[in-house]
Amino acid sequence: ASLSLVILLDSKAQQTDLEWISYPPNGWEEISGLDENYTPIRTYQVCQVMEPNQNNWLRTNWIEKGNAQRIFVELKFTLRDCNSLPGVVGTCKETFNLYYQETDSEVGRSLRENQYVKIDTIAADESFTQGDLGERKMKLNTEVRIIGPLTRRGFYLAFQDVGACIALVSVKVYYKKCWSIIENLATFPDTVTGSEFSSLVEVEGVCVNDAEEEADNSPKMHCSAEGEWLVPIGKCICKAGFHQKGDALGFCPSNLFNLKHLSILLNAVQRSKEKDQKDRVYSTVRSKSTSATVNNLKPSTAYVFQIRAFTEAGYGTYGPRLEITTKEEATAAIVSSEQNPVIIIAVVAVAGTIILVFMVFGFIIGRRYALAVKFPGTKTYIDPETYEDPNRAVHQFAKELDASCIKIERVIGAGEFGEVCSGRLKLPGKRDVSVAIKTLKVGYTEKQRRDFLCEASIMGQFDHPNVVHLEGVVTRGKPVMIVIEYMENGSLDGFLRKHDGQFTVIQLVGMLRGIAAGMRYLSDMGYVHRDLAARNILVNSNLVCKVSDFGLSRVIDDDPEAVYTTTGGKIPVRWTAPEAIQYRKFTSASDVWSYGIVMWEVMSYGERPYWDMSNQDVIKAIDEGYRLPAPMDCPPGLHQLMLDCWQKDRAERPKFDQIVGILDKMIRNPNTLKTPLGTCTSPLLDQSTPDFTAFRSVGEWLEAIKMERYRDNFTAAGYSSLESVARMSIEDVMSLGITLVGHQKKIMSSIQTMRAQMLHLHGTGIQV
Ligand code: AMP
Repeated sequence: ASLSLVILLDSKAQQTDLEWISYPPNGWEEISGLDENYTPIRTYQVCQVMEPNQNNWLRTNWIEKGNAQRIFVELKFTLRDCNSLPGVVGTCKETFNLYYQETDSEVGRSLRENQYVKIDTIAADESFTQGDLGERKMKLNTEVRIIGPLTRRGFYLAFQDVGACIALVSVKVYYKKCWSIIENLATFPDTVTGSEFSSLVEVEGVCVNDAEEEADNSPKMHCSAEGEWLVPIGKCICKAGFHQKGDALGFCPSNLFNLKHLSILLNAVQRSKEKDQKDRVYSTVRSKSTSATVNNLKPSTAYVFQIRAFTEAGYGTYGPRLEITTKEEATAAIVSSEQNPVIIIAVVAVAGTIILVFMVFGFIIGRRYALAVKFPGTKTYIDPETYEDPNRAVHQFAKELDASCIKIERVIGAGEFGEVCSGRLKLPGKRDVSVAIKTLKVGYTEKQRRDFLCEASIMGQFDHPNVVHLEGVVTRGKPVMIVIEYMENGSLDGFLRKHDGQFTVIQLVGMLRGIAAGMRYLSDMGYVHRDLAARNILVNSNLVCKVSDFGLSRVIDDDPEAVYTTTGGKIPVRWTAPEAIQYRKFTSASDVWSYGIVMWEVMSYGERPYWDMSNQDVIKAIDEGYRLPAPMDCPPGLHQLMLDCWQKDRAERPKFDQIVGILDKMIRNPNTLKTPLGTCTSPLLDQSTPDFTAFRSVGEWLEAIKMERYRDNFTAAGYSSLESVARMSIEDVMSLGITLVGHQKKIMSSIQTMRAQMLHLHGTGIQV
């Protein structure tokens, strides 16, 4: 989820009667109530459970869709458990149906059933939960459905009740968009996401004032289905005569001003508001530094922030309006500007659980500064094993599909639990889609069924364009099935072997970027994969790579590459970090190690890591400091990134977030990938560290890092130039006779920085 939402309808925000159409009149009824914060809300309720043959319709007002193609409908409702209603056996239902009708304008108030397309049957996860005193408490359910692509100007939603006892507490309708952003000195306008889950919308950037397009490298970005900007390509550069540091600032100043303070204008706004009603100014906040905390915000309230800066040159103009709705328990917002002018606004929700990151832009001194809004805390992965009843876990995270919606076409592979087939899934009111269907073979044990469905319980928690998407499960029929989006090109290792040498480096790096983005998402959710390898990445027809193969730790046992190690358990040795092999320390940092191996597999078109070396030899070689060399034609920058992923000390390895950033930079500067000079900056490079490349001799450098006592050790071993020092590995440093671990680390970290600076700032290729 992200704050890139544009809300089209929010029934909770409406202060007056909703006045939706209800038919017949004794069916759905509009009732005023209070929510948990005692805010008045409108609800619709129906409870005709005693009478058979109910068919009660409720239709919203017309919803204009704007530019949206893919619309999200979020329903919050409570549903009575039929068992709790005496004397209703046979008539009472526990579901209702959601429909929509597309039209170009408002139609009359009559309701014709046959004009509606069904979106889904909505059921409660659980109508009741047990209270502390054993009493049964009504639970608020939240369900989200997606409709689209939509082609008309607007639509109606309709709710059909067939005899349940329902209170529809809130209906929210929204779409997602990528908000305008400045990247690489180019502005990218607000962009509505594409119509498909996996589609990216390519957007051309326009250079900011005083900047111009780099020759043959016009700026482009891609807006993802989640409203996130991805894969920047090309760039603008400051025109001659303007400050070339503009890149970091987002504009090309002729002069750099000093920031004196920020002024933050804060308005509380009323949602879905009368036209000429003014926003209420809530407060203005002034901050001497580049960060400020805004306290005492009301929960569940929309606020608009606008920021301007006061510098030596006077006040700038206010930037664009940045709208944020506080969470239910929100108490404070932090507005800050980290380093130079990236300003971060975070709304702190005390017990909030979301997520939301997006970028918009403000003007300061008539120039643009980047603003990022981030809600701290993130959705976390829940281990299905924590559920006593594995069936509940599956239904918590995966949709139960009706077997009649699935058409199996052919067998495409063999899975651990049964055949993997391809086929079609046709859900009511939706277009049919290609799917892969994993089946559970007949005669399974209860444990096998549990382990099989475990993958669905895990996959169902993820929603990211680079993680394989679960459509649903069939557990109530036979065979038991897991239905997944279809990935036309199968596993990445086989796909690369089949197309040996056929891709450009940029295409390969694009694949790696996708895998890293998927892994960043998984690690942000707290999920450790443990078996990341090219064979567990799937590729679709657009060459989009997605992480797959989810299971609990023991499921690794099914990987044919996994072998028993002396520490117990089966481990795919060639892909696994030393600490995970030695003492089963599996973390996102060990996933980063495996990611480095995947990079190597990709750049070598599916070569087997460590070729025909035995597993024992691999473990020994790694322990002695050996690392896989650069595959043929692999740019040194990429190999350097692999080496960073294979640092022995897991704290030294880059995070997935940094890896995505590094790969984006490479994609943005494709020319540098073509030459033997790498562009990869070690994630350890910190802009505030001195420029090591400016030192003229090894002695001068050692002096700067206060290690001059080792000058003779370097000379004796023949390291006379900084270039030769930059190639040193930790083993080389140790072999100089430097025994203090602290000094070894200090020297090595300085060498790594120097190496990165040489690669990045001066384009000096260093082969390690
Ligand atoms: P698995 O049990 O996940 O290892 O799947 C066995 C084989 O089935 C894989 O190696 C793939 O070739 C194929 N397969 C699995 N999932 C999919 C999918 N979503 N789309 C296409 N092929 C798949």
